[in-house]
Amino acid sequence: MIAADITYLRPDTAEEAVDAWSRHEGARYLAGGTEITPAARRTAALDLRACIDIKRIAEANVHEMCGDRLCLGAALSLSDVAAGDAFPLLNATLRGIADHSVRNRLTLGGNVAGLLPYREAALPLLLADATVRSIVPAQEGAQAIRRERKLREIFDKRLVLAPGELVLSFCVPIEAPEWPWSHHRKTRTSPVDYPLVTAGMVRDGDSIRLAIAGAHPYPVRSDAADAALSKDGPAALPAVFEAFGPLRADSRASAEYRVALLKNMIRASLEELA
Ligand SMILES: Cc1cc2nc3c(=O)[nH]c(=O)nc-3n(C[C@H](O)[C@H](O)[C@H](O)COP(=O)(O)OP(=O)(O)OC[C@H]3O[C@@H](n4cnc5c(N)ncnc54)[C@H](O)[C@@H]3O)c2cc1C
Repeated sequence: MIAADITYLRPDTAEEAVDAWSRHEGARYLAGGTEITPAARRTAALDLRACIDIKRIAEANVHEMCGDRLCLGAALSLSDVAAGDAFPLLNATLRGIADHSVRNRLTLGGNVAGLLPYREAALPLLLADATVRSIVPAQEGAQAIRRERKLREIFDKRLVLAPGELVLSFCVPIEAPEWPWSHHRKTRTSPVDYPLVTAGMVRDGDSIRLAIAGAHPYPVRSDAADAALSKDGPAALPAVFEAFGPLRADSRASAEYRVALLKNMIRASLEELA
């Protein structure tokens, strides 16, 4: 049970949302609520006193071409994003997450901004060098600030946001969804399970990019791994594992097993993209 009374707010605009965050101590943005609600039930330390539901904000629900970019709202459900045909690697990745009913609830922004270890939706966005459009609450009488930054610059194990910063959308350069891609995902039990390892790979000309989830407590893309794979292909595996550092071990799989899975995934992906 959630111990405290919680104020529920449902703003219509991004400005109203960040203004609500500034006026309500202990406020958090609410998207699908699948991570934040159980966390509030489990631990009083979350100190959740107000929920700002972002699902009505039009800018957070875009799913369209904006000039030479594909823009995807942070409040879109994973099902809605995966129903489009504009970004096949993103669709394949999202369809691997949970089942269809659950994906109707989970949002793109909640997956990337959340703190669960997997955050698989981040993989295609990291590979595509997506940018993040956001809005930061006003400081001392000034106006709220809108920003657009590269996801890779603000993704360091987690999405690093300013206090009260609200993610509105992710924008992907139009050419990125055209790159040849591959996606591999291995679970311990049925396909509807958290991944032991997920690997996404793209080829942009001679350049190979790899991003992985499940192998660490956070998604990773490494410039050193990309450079080694682009130069040496399968022979780069030792350099790739050095770049990624030790893989995690938990009750579902040993680090050695994850290494073996990831090696197979990388070899298979390189063959598919050759
Ligand atoms: C049954 C089930 C199976 C799952 N399986 C997988 C899986 O296989 N792979 C995987 O990657 N994930 C999986 N998940 C995790 C799931 O993807 C995340 O919990 C989910 O994406 C969180 O999204 P949400 O919209 O519910 O976020 P919420 O719970 O609403 O929010 C999560 C956090 O992000 C913040 N936030 C949300 N939106 C924004 C925004 N726009 N700007 C700033 N902050 C924001 C919130 O304040 C909160 O702190 C699973 C979840 C469930 C329930």
